[in-house]
Amino acid sequence: MIRLTLSSGSLRTLIEHQVPGWLARANRHTSAMRRRRRFSGPAIWGEIKRILMELQHHKCAYCERPMGNSVQANIDYDVEHFRPKGRVTPWPPPEKALRLGIRYSTGNGAADGYPLLAYEPGNLAVVCKMCNSPLKSDYFPIAGTASNASTDIAELDAVEKPLLIFPLGTQGRAPEEFITFHGIVPAPVKRSGPARRRARVTIDFFELHLRTDLNDGRAHCLVQLWDKIQLAKKGSSKQRQDAREVLAAAQEDYWPFSGCARAFLSLHTSDPQRAEQYYRAAHDIVTRKEPGLYPGSRSTSPRRHRPTR
Ligand SMILES: [Zn+2]
Repeated sequence: MIRLTLSSGSLRTLIEHQVPGWLARANRHTSAMRRRRRFSGPAIWGEIKRILMELQHHKCAYCERPMGNSVQANIDYDVEHFRPKGRVTPWPPPEKALRLGIRYSTGNGAADGYPLLAYEPGNLAVVCKMCNSPLKSDYFPIAGTASNASTDIAELDAVEKPLLIFPLGTQGRAPEEFITFHGIVPAPVKRSGPARRRARVTIDFFELHLRTDLNDGRAHCLVQLWDKIQLAKKGSSKQRQDAREVLAAAQEDYWPFSGCARAFLSLHTSDPQRAEQYYRAAHDIVTRKEPGLYPGSRSTSPRRHRPTR
């Protein structure tokens, strides 16, 4: 997860330019809900989905899985309400708490959700089907007190203290301040305190450490980067130039799993031996050998005979 910076004003300008009249319709629907005090209205957020997809560089906002930019990719991804529009169900559900050993509480939910934010662009993100449903669903874990009286997200954040990290816009601290990667494994940056708790909840919530597709994607990324690091040092003049270009691209926002890539390249600068260990583990995953440093990251492997540790 990485911060994708765009101010609220810039996003609104973009929406008005590409879908004229959308903001005015959104305001009318919000005014209607202010009277009703519950969500009811058309799903016009789908009309700005393409805008969000482009702003997100065609990656899921939460897990950084790449999406295409075709009509088919459009079908694979949903517009997600960070604060649920209709109701908030307490998280985690008992099955998940048991499966992941979660013992912390994250609020009691809210019957009415956040109807006033249903049409707020700053409450929307484009996410993959897995992140949206079943994982995000109508959950919104918080450490503070639930409140849906305002449309000011900064005000709500101060009262509610959201435990999930929202990567879009300029509100709050960037995801990279909370979550780093040990090789392909997401981990809290901080050793203790609220920042560690928020990272832990976000990782557990989206199962960023457990999903095989994400671990495979990150492993392929690390193997590619390791090869480019070697070529940047030892290749021909052309190979060195090409490798440097790829290593620079891997730190751009558009790179799939760029949070993982940035952490790996930073580690290689500070601790190349540790980086090589992470590379070896990623290599073993890519080549379907032992899971190395990542037990449990792959539940079935045609070349592995010992049980997962
Ligand atoms: Zn996702």
